[in-house]
Amino acid sequence: HGCSDCAAPRTRADHGALRHEEEPMQDVDGRVAVITGGSSGIGRGIALAFARAGMRVVVTGRRPEHLAETVESFAAEGLEVHPMQVDVTDLSAMRAAADEVQARFGRVDVLVNNAGIGLTGPVASALPTDWDWVIDVNIRGVGNGIQAFLPKILENGDGGHIVNTSSMAGLMPIVAGLYSMTKAAVIGLSEALHIELKPAGVGVSVYCPGPVHSNIATAVAARPEQYGESGYTAPDPSFAEFARAQPYMTAEEAGERVLAGLRRGDLFILTHPEFR
Ligand code: NAD
Repeated sequence: HGCSDCAAPRTRADHGALRHEEEPMQDVDGRVAVITGGSSGIGRGIALAFARAGMRVVVTGRRPEHLAETVESFAAEGLEVHPMQVDVTDLSAMRAAADEVQARFGRVDVLVNNAGIGLTGPVASALPTDWDWVIDVNIRGVGNGIQAFLPKILENGDGGHIVNTSSMAGLMPIVAGLYSMTKAAVIGLSEALHIELKPAGVGVSVYCPGPVHSNIATAVAARPEQYGESGYTAPDPSFAEFARAQPYMTAEEAGERVLAGLRRGDLFILTHPEFR
């Protein structure tokens, strides 16, 4: 697949050590970026990093009050961010949002499919509604983002980048099954998309963070009886140990790493030093 650091073909299991060479964004200043689920946690951290780098940033989210808070807190730092109320599971709403961004800014350069939910618990007892919800948001939500915004990125004819947020849990069994399943799916989808879009010079990368302070992380850590002390439910003790050894990052640090990946043209990042 064109990586100089590794000989193709490689299996997905090797991916922690893999660096995809994407088309790097030559200059991010003035580029238009859309970040889904951008009014909290990692998405907000990404929005901050992008705005500080001079990008024009749109954040999408479901709750108007959270979007309004985000706009206000950015303004307090002298930064502008454009809120858009849209649910990633709604393809037609996502398409309308893409039209709106295009009309307002004249282009879309970067899409970060960040929105996700942190559903955990044993596979055997997951309810049909659990399956639907986690698949709709964590997988279909990414697909909807691509289908809605990619046509706009391609219209520019000068590159661009799609970042899909997976997780360390997509690479190894460190948390419960349904979440891990969706995050592994995001990696598979991204790999195929990477090949599809290479001829057009559009970079595709996957962000696989380890633990980052956010709503998801807080919610999980608040229920140790359900998720274990560290929030990890790794069925295999060696994976559990590995997961617990990962230092937490702040959402702002996570945002800086995503920005660095965009500039470098690859973004397959874990917090463990071995995987950097
Ligand atoms: P978070 O809950 O703060 O952020 C998730 C955002 O997605 C929220 O703003 C939420 O409202 C939004 N969202 C959820 N469903 C949505 C929908 N249907 N439509 C639109 N927006 C929706 O948690 P976070 O940790 O910042 O999560 C961001 C991403 O990072 C997720 O994809 C998560 O799986 C991934 N991730 C997080 C960690 C971590 O340790 N925090 C680790 C690995 C991966």
